[in-house]
Amino acid sequence: MQYKSKVCCLIGDPIEHTISPLIHNIAFQKLGIDYVYVAFRVKKSMLKMAVDGVKALNIRGLNVTIPHKVEIINYLDKVDKLAENIGAVNTVVNEDGKLIGYNTDGPGAIKALQDKGFYLRGKRILILGAGGAARAIAYYIAREEPSEIIILNRSVEKALEVSDKIGCEMNISCKAAKLEEENLKKALENTDLLINCTSVGMFPNLEETLVPKAFLKMDMTVMDIVYNPIYTRLLREAADVGCNIICGIDMLVNQAALSFEIWTGIKAPVEEMRRTALEALRKDLL
Ligand code: NAP
Repeated sequence: MQYKSKVCCLIGDPIEHTISPLIHNIAFQKLGIDYVYVAFRVKKSMLKMAVDGVKALNIRGLNVTIPHKVEIINYLDKVDKLAENIGAVNTVVNEDGKLIGYNTDGPGAIKALQDKGFYLRGKRILILGAGGAARAIAYYIAREEPSEIIILNRSVEKALEVSDKIGCEMNISCKAAKLEEENLKKALENTDLLINCTSVGMFPNLEETLVPKAFLKMDMTVMDIVYNPIYTRLLREAADVGCNIICGIDMLVNQAALSFEIWTGIKAPVEEMRRTALEALRKDLL
């Protein structure tokens, strides 16, 4: 008997609430390919050993989540140029023992926007947050030639660092300021798209939001990358006001589909993956 199954996995800490194994295993089953996906809790201090293990065990692919997205770059053989600029990797493929890193968060978010008919060229974009996901999304948005990006973050120095880098490297107008009510109100007066890239509003803090409802306008599109719950308070209030809304689950499924395609070379069954993710979140399996 031959064991030919290819193994993909998630490494992070914590990983107890992840739905990635559900999404990927259903996709492998749907296409009848001999892959399996598991999640491993890997402590910060064990990352190097875990990456050595990926090579030793010939694991085909990795998803990387908090807290390893930045640190893992040090242990890879090659990193995609944009992922290198972003400074974060969430997907790794093992090509004959060489580990190559990518970032699918940014393209996953762009695809979610396009699927809902939102195109970024010439638009004014407001991003809340300057963490790993915010950086990836800001970089990919900058490539689409928006007229302006504003980044507001609680720790203003991080927002400034991201906006300086993007402004210089991508040659677009990218500003940053501290995330506080006055700056938020002013920025929202002229925004086409607001994206919450912070963890505010995530389970179990369902009633938290950074944006007072009174600041939202019906001609805005509002995206929240938090996917648990499916409808955050920000999205519920934006829908009330009449905004076009985009849920974090749309980005989640699209970034997962891109990782899947990097590992398998086969087009991902996105609808099957979305249905599984929605069912898991609705059933509150987490
Ligand atoms: P991260 O690198 O830890 O960044 C967290 C961000 O949230 C930082 O900007 C942080 O501000 C801000 N923040 C946290 N608590 C805050 C508070 N109480 N008030 C104001 N700002 C606060 O995390 P990440 O990887 O970017 O992930 C952020 C969120 O996106 C998480 O909820 C994650 O689950 C979600 N996510 C979703 C997807 C998807 O596919 N839908 C993909 C990736 C991530 P400071 O810099 O001031 O600390």
